[in-house]
Amino acid sequence: MSRVYLDHNATTPLKPAVIEKITELMVRGGNASAIHTLGREARRDVERAREALAALVSVQSPQVIFTAGATESNNTVLRSFADQVIWACATEHPSVLALTPEEGRIPVLENGVIDMDALDKMLADLSAPALVSIMMVNNETGVIQPVEEVARKIKARHPSVYIHTDAVQAAGRIPINFPAMQVDYMSLSAHKMGGPQGVGALIFAPGCDPKAFMQGGGQEKRLRAGTENVPGIAGFGVAAELAVEDMEAYRKLEGLREKTEAQILAAVPAAKIWGVGAPRVANTISLCFPLMAAKSQMMNLDLDGIGVSSGSACASGSGKGSTVLQAMGASEEEAKATLRISLGWSTTEEDVEAFLASWLKLAERVVAKERAV
Ligand code: PMP
Repeated sequence: MSRVYLDHNATTPLKPAVIEKITELMVRGGNASAIHTLGREARRDVERAREALAALVSVQSPQVIFTAGATESNNTVLRSFADQVIWACATEHPSVLALTPEEGRIPVLENGVIDMDALDKMLADLSAPALVSIMMVNNETGVIQPVEEVARKIKARHPSVYIHTDAVQAAGRIPINFPAMQVDYMSLSAHKMGGPQGVGALIFAPGCDPKAFMQGGGQEKRLRAGTENVPGIAGFGVAAELAVEDMEAYRKLEGLREKTEAQILAAVPAAKIWGVGAPRVANTISLCFPLMAAKSQMMNLDLDGIGVSSGSACASGSGKGSTVLQAMGASEEEAKATLRISLGWSTTEEDVEAFLASWLKLAERVVAKERAV
């Protein structure tokens, strides 16, 4: 059975040109800190990738360091402010929320967008935060946050506050202009944009060097110790170049998503889509079907060869249902009954049709059973 993969927000399949580059460099080898020819070649590949990442978000290449993923990038930034006041949106990724105290959580509205009135009230307090973290795009719902507007509002009131944005789910999906956004730090991850797992980047404004989280080596201008993952970084560079080229094609997924959501809602009135009415990226459907636990829905779909998820992979295992959806007003039951269907560069119309046929068959069976009781 050929499998249908609709879990791009968890990880994307590698793009063929990325596989080619990684394979080439794995065969070649070379430590980017070595001064012999092989080392210099490795260094050249790392620097080329740095330039590609810098171009993706419109910064200069010295503003980019490579990490082992966005969890590390997020940790690096938030730990740089560990003894200071940190605020973050209530729907951030667990790698941000784990380092944000409860009282620093900025609420969101029912559609998932940050609650500006609540932010205003928090800002009116005398103690200004040192760092505010606002993600560009939510990994569970695809909701886009008005990061630039938030950054401007905060800095107008407290010019010394630093802003961090987790742009993992935005890269390759919507344009990113770091300087225009008025942010100081940004986290990116290769494996959400057709690159390899275990490679990330941290972007920072001039003069905002983060505190080194990994220590014990002079790599990445002493900001991130440890031998560079040369093949992975070079693969990330290729993925960044392709992300720019493929963005228009990505936007076309929106039509497919809209059609799918409309068909679901027309056929199954009990279903609900989270984030409707908010600006969203083109690829994510957050689908609540309160009559069946998401785990059972996922297992049924998997039997038909379709891979989707419930909430975020990093938050799974908590057993309590998505905190993101509950921050948007969902009950624990609704959160536990929500599937995440995320399309991507390799998704075809047939993939989505296969999902729709399988899910509608399941939902209609559950609804009929419910009626018979
Ligand atoms: N932030 C967001 C929004 C994510 O979706 C993810 C991946 N689940 C991360 C951070 C962590 O990225 P990584 O897997 O590279 O550590």
